[in-house]
Amino acid sequence: MFTVAIIGRPNVGKSTLFNRLVGRREAIVHDFPGVTRDRKERKASLLGLEFLVIDTAGLEEAEPDSLAARMSAMTLGSLAQADVVLFLIDARAGVTPMDEHFADVLRKQPTPVVVVANKCEGKAGEPGLLEAYAFGLGEPVGISAEHGTGMGDLLEALLPFARQYADDHGETLFGEEPAAPVLTAEEQAALDDETLGADEDPSLPPVRTEEDVTKPLRLAIVGRPNTGKSTFVNALIGEERLLTGPEAGVTRDAISVDWTFKDRAIQLVDTAGLRRKARIQESLERLSVGDTLNAVRMAEVVILMLDANMVMDKQDLTIARLVVEEGRALVIAVNKWDAAEDRQASIQRLKDRLESSLPQVRGIPTVTLSAIKGQGLDRVMDAVLKIHRVWNTRVSTSALNRWLEHTLSKHPPPLSKSKRRIKLRYMTQPKARPPTFAVSCSRPEDLPESYVRYLANGLREDFGLDGVPIRMHFRKPK
Ligand code: GDP
Ligand code: GDP
Repeated sequence: MFTVAIIGRPNVGKSTLFNRLVGRREAIVHDFPGVTRDRKERKASLLGLEFLVIDTAGLEEAEPDSLAARMSAMTLGSLAQADVVLFLIDARAGVTPMDEHFADVLRKQPTPVVVVANKCEGKAGEPGLLEAYAFGLGEPVGISAEHGTGMGDLLEALLPFARQYADDHGETLFGEEPAAPVLTAEEQAALDDETLGADEDPSLPPVRTEEDVTKPLRLAIVGRPNTGKSTFVNALIGEERLLTGPEAGVTRDAISVDWTFKDRAIQLVDTAGLRRKARIQESLERLSVGDTLNAVRMAEVVILMLDANMVMDKQDLTIARLVVEEGRALVIAVNKWDAAEDRQASIQRLKDRLESSLPQVRGIPTVTLSAIKGQGLDRVMDAVLKIHRVWNTRVSTSALNRWLEHTLSKHPPPLSKSKRRIKLRYMTQPKARPPTFAVSCSRPEDLPESYVRYLANGLREDFGLDGVPIRMHFRKPK
């Protein structure tokens, strides 16, 4: 599991941060140094990202001259286990000689380091935060472990390492995918049932949408600051509506506005634009991945707003991946089309980026618009309605198994390492939202990624699942 070590001199707030990440009062916090003695290792989560966290302590009891020796012995041991180190300093106290000493050690070892300036609530931490740049260990992240601020920034700093780890180990980033839970007993029974499809209602079409149009479609609009999200929302539903909507007793964490588009009830959830109109004080200059993640998780469809002159930079891609990893349907809206300098280049760049960075989801709907001129708004919303229907697609078991047979005959699975044929016997779609398929497979562990992609792409093409994430589970028959 992705592992994070917390390191720093006594009293900088390691235990406080550890507790916050672990979510229980695991480590004892005290005002005097030397309380946490053992190295602790616990499961932790930060805005949905799951990992192991190691708290290191005990160094404070060392004789000053043996400090270095103790550090090497104890701390380096846990560093070796970690994928990334959070190097904590106390921003209120500023950088001390002992911090410098830690920094020296950290510079000489291979595990990547994120400098974290703790106790940054209020203004008292600002000088310390700036001093922390001087370590030369990268941009420090300002947090308050005690007050829980800066957690989105901390997540953002950890994400590249977490992503690297997930890529290297074939794991998903946010633990158990919330949109694709473990199969229920019923679904498992359906999968185990060899007579699949026999009792299906033959009057139902083989491919249909399970969209419940009586429920409002939950939509989030996300993107970097200044891409035009508020302008878009205003143009769409009117300033007045926005000003009144969020005040109706809605809390800071769940701002939403209801309206209808072409007779379809839409619920706009938690966007920075809404927050601003709700006059909630917040730093809007920076993108907070934590806030974005919250909005994405609340939504079914997510509009990612881009600026036509800065299409798909690193942050845009981070958000797009987040949406896909969370199993939500994504619509990409390229705003400020009126002011686009080179439209063709902009679209080409978007295509290239999507192809190279999100190849697992082909056909993500992309719409250009000018929010300020009110052009293309309907096209964006039409794309939202359409992708939502696709996201709710349900394919009948019989159609799936006909498809599987055909697909296997066109291009059978390869031999396993022990030269045995990998058998795919049957499949079902235990759930929609996003479309999730379960395939009975003799050797799931031997099935190459390329073959999984072949199946997923085939499903996408043959059942019209363009632009939505597809989940596939392969399991051994009992
Ligand atoms: P450790 O020795 O590094 O594990 O530090 P602790 O977690 O025990 O914290 C040391 C002291 O700093 C305790 O009194 C905490 O309450 C306090 N502390 C921790 N985090 C913060 C913070 O974000 N802001 C402020 N002002 N105090 C904090
Ligand atoms: P947000 O931070 O994403 O909510 O962005 P805003 O809606 O506040 O817009 C940021 C800036 O972009 C403002 O100055 C808007 O007037 C401008 N803007 C928004 N939409 C458009 C557009 O379609 N064309 C142009 N040229 N400017 C736009």
